[in-house]
Amino acid sequence: LASRDFQPYDTIIEVGGVKIGGGNLAIMAGPCSVESEEQMMIIAEEVKKAGANILRGGAYKPRTSPYAFQGLGEAGLKILRQVGDRFNMPVISEVMDTQDVKKCVKYVDILQIGTRNAQNFALLREVGKTRTPVLLKRGMSQTIEEWLMSAEYIMSEGNKSVILCERGIRTFETATRNTLDILAVPVIKEKTHLPIVVDPSHAAGVWKYVIPMSLAAIVAGADGLEIEVHHDPEKAVSDGAQSLKPHKFATLMAEIKNIAPVI
Ligand code: PEP
Ligand code: MN
Repeated sequence: LASRDFQPYDTIIEVGGVKIGGGNLAIMAGPCSVESEEQMMIIAEEVKKAGANILRGGAYKPRTSPYAFQGLGEAGLKILRQVGDRFNMPVISEVMDTQDVKKCVKYVDILQIGTRNAQNFALLREVGKTRTPVLLKRGMSQTIEEWLMSAEYIMSEGNKSVILCERGIRTFETATRNTLDILAVPVIKEKTHLPIVVDPSHAAGVWKYVIPMSLAAIVAGADGLEIEVHHDPEKAVSDGAQSLKPHKFATLMAEIKNIAPVI
């Protein structure tokens, strides 16, 4: 179902008036975690002003340590929805558990499947039963073929609105958090009609590499970006080191407009 042979034309997914795929640029921006209403209001205002068209924020967090902040859960989803509505932005948030899918669908416009759950087939099937668009991150050790099979799990349940997201893979390299497989963009474009966005934040792990990698992704043909932005990264409860401050995000957006005028 995901193959270009099956469907030669690009899939365009529309969420709250924003088109994803087919030459449109979707810019998803916001903090790693929803921390408070005040935090979301500050960040949403900034990213919207800079030109982002979708608001991100994690309410269920897949943390490496069980003792680390795990997210605000449903309270976080409520904040994300309210702030998204306030700024007229569709919202995206990660779902980690099959039992939370129905609840998440009530609040979000796009369900995110994180890298750690990219082969959680029960979860893929469950989001496949909804009709809410799904952003499917590439598993950190997944080949492109395996990743597309994960998309197939979602689509075979009836949900054809899948957005792929390259977020870096694990390699022997330790200088950055992950290795951004920018080649995945043209390869995916050849193999599938589904849109592909790039998350340079989780690939880099360091904010200063996010701007060059974002531009590289756009030039490579990505349909958009997912970027972590925080107004006070030193105090962020998760992923502060890789989060752009709002003025850096605005710089990035200005540079994107120079190379890709269609947003
Ligand atoms: C996230 O988007 O905050 C996240 C946890 O991403 P990933 O699944 O790519 O690590
Ligand atoms: Mn994060």
